[in-house]
Amino acid sequence: MTGAPLRTHAPEPPARYDVVIAGGAIMGSSTAYFLAVREPSLRVAVIEPDPTYEWCSTLRASGGVRVLFSCPENIEMSKFGRAFIQAFPETMAVDGRPAPVDWVQGGYLFIVPPHGLALLESNYRTQRAHGCDVELLSPAELHARFPSMHVDDLGAGVHSPGDGWCDPNGLLQGLRRKAAALGVHYVADRVVGFDCAGSVVRSATLASGRVLHADAFVDAAGPWAAQVAALAGVTLPIAPLRRFEHYFTAGNPVERLPYVKDLDRLAFRSEGVGFSGGLVNGDEPRGFNFEVDHDWFENVVWPAVAHRFPPFEAARCHRTWSGLYEQCELDGNPVIGNCAGTRDNFYVVAGFSGHGMMHAPAAGRAIAELIVDRRFDALDLSRLGYARVAHHDPYPEAGIV
Ligand SMILES: Cc1cc2nc3c(=O)[nH]c(=O)nc-3n(C[C@H](O)[C@H](O)[C@H](O)COP(=O)(O)OP(=O)(O)OC[C@H]3O[C@@H](n4cnc5c(N)ncnc54)[C@H](O)[C@@H]3O)c2cc1C
Repeated sequence: MTGAPLRTHAPEPPARYDVVIAGGAIMGSSTAYFLAVREPSLRVAVIEPDPTYEWCSTLRASGGVRVLFSCPENIEMSKFGRAFIQAFPETMAVDGRPAPVDWVQGGYLFIVPPHGLALLESNYRTQRAHGCDVELLSPAELHARFPSMHVDDLGAGVHSPGDGWCDPNGLLQGLRRKAAALGVHYVADRVVGFDCAGSVVRSATLASGRVLHADAFVDAAGPWAAQVAALAGVTLPIAPLRRFEHYFTAGNPVERLPYVKDLDRLAFRSEGVGFSGGLVNGDEPRGFNFEVDHDWFENVVWPAVAHRFPPFEAARCHRTWSGLYEQCELDGNPVIGNCAGTRDNFYVVAGFSGHGMMHAPAAGRAIAELIVDRRFDALDLSRLGYARVAHHDPYPEAGIV
């Protein structure tokens, strides 16, 4: 009788790699992809304990991509990420099968009260200097563009029509599939320790007991990044910050809206026939808490949305979920680089504080450059490196976060 061959267990991956990456969601997969492209001979392993990605931040993200930042590094990372995502279905195709990410160029709109005007204008000038397509709109211009918006208490807004949003799951799965097709090994395991000698990490120990030796180790563990770094004797100011995301409908007709954000950290965008968004509580106690407060929408989000857009007075929340920001407590900016002086071959790509999906392509590329060429190439991100953590030298993002 003929039939399908018996399924055999995948061969054990070798115990020696060039690069071992802890965390296989968007940051780990982007880093792995860019490593494989930059130096195809590299042996790269990505260690990911949960191939379903149930709790990872990436699958809970709202998919926003925008150039509206104050730090030039963030603006440039967004510009690269946006172009990368737009070309994603074709560039990430495997065996002719495209990689859909459902890009929607819906635009972003940051709005501020009069006391936020100077900040908005200053950021606007920086964005223009970096070649961004942004327009500064007075309250009257805002109202003309978005008639349902209440503008009496606003100072101005900045609209970036080239921005938008995409499907974070599509982005992650496409990167993972492409990285694997280029020879990256995904290992379903967890990093539980590192063996270090002086300022060098020599190997990673996995929960299964396996030991993987490598020349470079990357911490791409998102909200768990500080835990992973601690295993290597590195202290990171990165903590999990719970944030709710809601799917809601307006209850009344409302014009097509961009991704709207304000200084109180209300943020929402269109999603199908409704809207997806939330309001970040920066005072949220830090920790791995995924519990959902089902009153948060009613008590906090709804009043803010209905005030800004009166048609939302009849809004209804259909679903609420929680996710974790990997919040950098030092300054709200990521740590991208190796821990020189502490663990020279230990690289961190974490702490994106709510912006990691859009910045993953540029950050992964940057880590690949550092590992392969020992320096940044396409974009100088040294200001976001580990040195500012070691010297307690904050570099804050002054855009609306
Ligand atoms: C509600 C919400 C909305 C958001 N909206 C946006 C947005 O609109 N735009 C945007 O750009 N960003 C957004 N973000 C932020 C974005 O989701 C994150 O910055 C980004 O997903 C971080 O990716 P990551 O791969 O570093 O972390 P994660 O996706 O959390 O992945 C970390 C991985 O590390 C693994 N891991 C943990 N411990 C270990 C270990 N010991 N060994 C090996 N692996 C380990 C985990 O299993 C996990 O898969 C949002 C986040 C949330 C929560």
